[in-house]
Amino acid sequence: MNLDTFEQWESEVRSYIRSFPTVFDTARGATLVDEDGKQFIDFFAGAGTLNYGHNNPIIKRALLDYIERDGIVHGLDMATSAKREFIETFRDLILTPRGLNHRLQFTGPTGANATEAALKVARLATGRANVIAFTHGYHGLSLGSLATTAARSYRSAAGVALGNVTFAPYEGYFGPSVDTIELLATQLADPSSGMDLPAAIIVEAIQGEGGINVASAEWLQRLAALAAEHEIPLILDDIQAGCGRTGAYFSFEDAGIIPDIVVLSKSLSGFGLPFSLVLLRPELDVWEPGGHTGTFRGNNLAFISATAALNTYWRDSGLSTEVRRKGDLLRQRLQAVIAAHPNSQLELRGRGLMQGLVAPDDPGFAGRVSREAFSGGLLIETSGANGEVLKFLPPLVIDDETLLTGVEIVAAAIQGSLVPVRA
Ligand code: PLP
Repeated sequence: MNLDTFEQWESEVRSYIRSFPTVFDTARGATLVDEDGKQFIDFFAGAGTLNYGHNNPIIKRALLDYIERDGIVHGLDMATSAKREFIETFRDLILTPRGLNHRLQFTGPTGANATEAALKVARLATGRANVIAFTHGYHGLSLGSLATTAARSYRSAAGVALGNVTFAPYEGYFGPSVDTIELLATQLADPSSGMDLPAAIIVEAIQGEGGINVASAEWLQRLAALAAEHEIPLILDDIQAGCGRTGAYFSFEDAGIIPDIVVLSKSLSGFGLPFSLVLLRPELDVWEPGGHTGTFRGNNLAFISATAALNTYWRDSGLSTEVRRKGDLLRQRLQAVIAAHPNSQLELRGRGLMQGLVAPDDPGFAGRVSREAFSGGLLIETSGANGEVLKFLPPLVIDDETLLTGVEIVAAAIQGSLVPVRA
């Protein structure tokens, strides 16, 4: 495949093109096709943006109808019928049934812009500067959000000091015997711990970029209780793990917590269109009019596609049930792959259709498998501090046959990628 144009003209900053070096042309559901007509099964899903598949036909129809009738495409944050329909549908299908009365703030279209806004409003509301973020967390790469992103590789590109953030250990960071909530509780309770009382705690219920680290329901509940005890707004970053990825609409639902602020993006539009949302408890909605503005807030095409996605998949529990079933199926198959390599020390972790396979003693493993799988016709990404986790993120609507074919490609790639076991 000829990549000359990209290599000659596109910035060195390009990344996924290096992992998946071909020119993609069309896509449908869980399959992409490149310019040579080669098909690839998608276990990457735009890094969690395509939960409902590529070019989902129902969502596409809604968009085409809207464009055909000259519906408003760009409207800054003016009122449009598309926006009202989205707000009402989101309220009726997502917020109200889950006991949330949060306000909706539409930010610029990236996840980073949403986390940026969430951090700003928490600081505005509390008058405090410090924020607690967690080891291996990822919240975006604009300066405010980057300060809460843990990876040195990203932080080193900032060019300025990244301040006003204290990193706390995520669950399991020091192994199973260290209670990281207890550590944080001790620091917050001690007026001489050196930790400034924070404006917010920002957390992912499952760390996607950080390596599919899953927080237990108990850990999340204790974190939420600790935040409430100290009147610290809890920001739950559901940009990657939300919109049904773990089965429930929100990744924190199964823990029974209600965060003060929730950020959503990626699969929110349902179609891969740029679209982000901050959900705020009404008392935290302290913005002055225009206090966090931007030209591309509230993408009207995304309102249409997001509303179609909600109406199609979230009027009943059908999709949730299917995600949990397919997640179990994926786990079973991957457990069988692990069992076939008893000396490999492979580990599986995750929830729903967000699973990670890691070879703890072999940081190069996931990268080798990803490359080999790509040759075999599968897109699968790596994550984790050293890229040591193979990240399974198929579209939620993938059919069983395609899911299992993808796992077979991974199994074959693993076969050729395991380093011979030491005696
Ligand atoms: N937060 C989480 C949990 C993410 O996974 C990401 C992106 O991967 C972001 C924030 C940043 O989103 P964006 O890349 O759209 O800025």
